[in-house]
Amino acid sequence: MGYGVGYVCKKCKNEKYILYEIGFLDSSYEDNNFKNLIEVGETEELQNIDQLLKFIELENVHIKHNYKHDAYICPKCKNIHNKFRYTLISNNKRFIPKYKCNYCGSKLKIKKKNEDFIITCDECGSNKFEKNTQFIRWD
Ligand SMILES: [Zn+2]
Ligand SMILES: [Zn+2]
Repeated sequence: MGYGVGYVCKKCKNEKYILYEIGFLDSSYEDNNFKNLIEVGETEELQNIDQLLKFIELENVHIKHNYKHDAYICPKCKNIHNKFRYTLISNNKRFIPKYKCNYCGSKLKIKKKNEDFIITCDECGSNKFEKNTQFIRWD
C-alpha cells in the first residue's frame, strides 16, 4: 500500500500530495500490461516517451519489481514532483523514464533523503506551503 505526504498552500489552501510506494492498480504491470505506463508518461511529462513506445515492442519485456511512486526534484528550480519510477528490461537492454519539470523544462532527478525543495502552487503560484499533518494512505 502506498502513502502520501500532503502540503497545503498558505495562500489559497490548495492541497498537493506527494505519493510514495505503490497502489493496488500498479500490480497490473506484473502481467506486462504496459498500456498504463504510456498513459502515465503522457500525463507526467515523460521526455523519452518515443523510446518507451519502441521498447515495449521488444521481446521479453518485463518490469523490475522495485517500481514505485517517488519524489523527484528539479535541479534548476528545486520544485518537487511526484513521478512513477521504474525500470523495464528486455534481454540485456533497459529503459528508465526521464521526466521533465513542468515549470522550467529541466530533467528531474530522484529526490535524495533530506534534500531541500520548494513547492509551487498550481492554482495561485505561491511557494508558501505548510505540511499537512494528516498522513494519507492510498491504494
Ligand atoms: Zn495557492
Ligand atoms: Zn524546474
